Amino acid sequence: MSDNLTDSPKKPQEILSDVFGYAAFRGNQEAIIDSIVGKKDTLVLMPTGGGKSLCYQIPALMASGLTLVISPLIALMKDQVESLRQNGVNAAFINSTQEYAEQEEILRQVKQGGVKLLYMAPERLFSDTSFVAFLKKQPISLVAIDEAHCISQWGHDFRPEYRKLGTLKALLQQEFPVMALTATADKLTRQDILEKLKLDDPKVFISSFNRENIQYHVVPKNQQYDRLLQFLNEQREESGIIYCLSRKSTEQLAERLVLDGFSAKPYHAGLDVQQKNESQDAFIKDDVKIIVATIAFGMGIDKSNVRYVIHMDLPKNIEGYYQETGRAGRDGLPSKALLFYSYGDVARLRYFIAIEGNEEQTRIMSNKLETMARFCETTSCRRQFLLRYFDEDFPDQCGACDTCLNTVKTFDGTVIAQLALSAVARLNQRFGTSYVIDFLRGSRSQKIKQPERNLKTFGKGAHLSKHEWKHYISALVSQNYLEMETGMYPVLKLTDKSWKVLKGEEKVKLSYLQHVSLHTSGDEGA
Ligand code: ADP
Ligand code: ZN
Repeated sequence: MSDNLTDSPKKPQEILSDVFGYAAFRGNQEAIIDSIVGKKDTLVLMPTGGGKSLCYQIPALMASGLTLVISPLIALMKDQVESLRQNGVNAAFINSTQEYAEQEEILRQVKQGGVKLLYMAPERLFSDTSFVAFLKKQPISLVAIDEAHCISQWGHDFRPEYRKLGTLKALLQQEFPVMALTATADKLTRQDILEKLKLDDPKVFISSFNRENIQYHVVPKNQQYDRLLQFLNEQREESGIIYCLSRKSTEQLAERLVLDGFSAKPYHAGLDVQQKNESQDAFIKDDVKIIVATIAFGMGIDKSNVRYVIHMDLPKNIEGYYQETGRAGRDGLPSKALLFYSYGDVARLRYFIAIEGNEEQTRIMSNKLETMARFCETTSCRRQFLLRYFDEDFPDQCGACDTCLNTVKTFDGTVIAQLALSAVARLNQRFGTSYVIDFLRGSRSQKIKQPERNLKTFGKGAHLSKHEWKHYISALVSQNYLEMETGMYPVLKLTDKSWKVLKGEEKVKLSYLQHVSLHTSGDEGA
């Protein structure tokens, strides 16, 4: 049935140059294509702009059958199909905005084998039984699921209809490889994608998530408007996106900026379609420099010269933050991400989260929020922190985030690291940061029980303050010498790298605590 993937006399490389006009594959595109041509279910994690589309478009062109592309947004599908058609590829999309006759015509072409790639939203597969009956009869070579993180409740953009995609093979009663693609997924979301899509012994490809041209900055959220003006004045001629939490604040801020002589427009899901399109088009054409938006703005917007992304309020999690800031600098030129942070925002979001979902959801989302807060409070490299979150090692300080630019000196912190790591080891990797710090400092607190007080490391770190320990432990987590395991309470765990340090085989660089973190949460789990 599906041995039609390798029918093509053409090689991937030839299609890349003949159809798309590119000389060479980027990153692991070629390996991904090989995996799917070898009929393996495949998960692709690649940052925005990395070149995900070619990973399924080329196999689609190699196969004799039809490739289905599942995509959450109509606007996204339209753009993709148009650009494929410009390259002479016979692609089409089918959705509810089309007239009946138009849909019939597309199906007719599919039936005749003219269409290579058919784009659709997931709803289509689960609401239209005659359409499914039709698809069952077509030879399907491959199904690509774009924005696959939408399947996960732990992601930042959950769409319930994505859930049903796990039944796809049964629904279409055929065998074909499935490729899931996403630009953001932490470990938990990744696991969820694999499980919920029921991928069969999948190959997983993870590209580097480092966006080296983006400089990360976090500033305290006081005198916010003044600080904002100062920042904007430094980039008067540039385009940027300002994210706010509420619809109302996008309108108020856009209005205020216009009064102050800036070119700005609001954007949020409550505006009517025409207003939204106007704002979006004006921004893309550079007629408007600043879009003040809720997170409803951005997915599928391909504007390369966005020079900055500002968060007026704290994002709910790192994935959202990474995705939103990732809209800056797609042209590769230097760009900035600026976030305003206050602990008040953490408290506010925690409240929203608590009333939103069931217990398990609340717990996971709270942990993600705490990690977001830790990102803001970290005094070591922010890029390292972000990449670690996506499971990627970035050994040195980046030199291009606010903490790197401010932190001057590092020192040999091996002894400090060994103390922290052996405390975690002796406590059997069962506790969070505060407990480990209390243990290291020999706290008299009742919560540290007698057997633990007898352990060798107890009190050996009393020469350092709580703040200092917090700073060092956070740096050890960023550098993957320790891992923060998410659970009911975040728990510190050892990693493979820990043992090298404990055995004295690896030295650890730490930076001095320069400034006390903006706010101290004091409640980082047990
Ligand atoms: P993503 O979906 O990962 O955000 P796209 O598939 O839209 O990224 O690709 C981003 C841009 O990079 C597109 O303009 C695409 O044509 C281009 N691109 C992708 N692969 C290559 C390549 N191998 N060589 C040159 N350009 C590429
Ligand atoms: Zn840095």
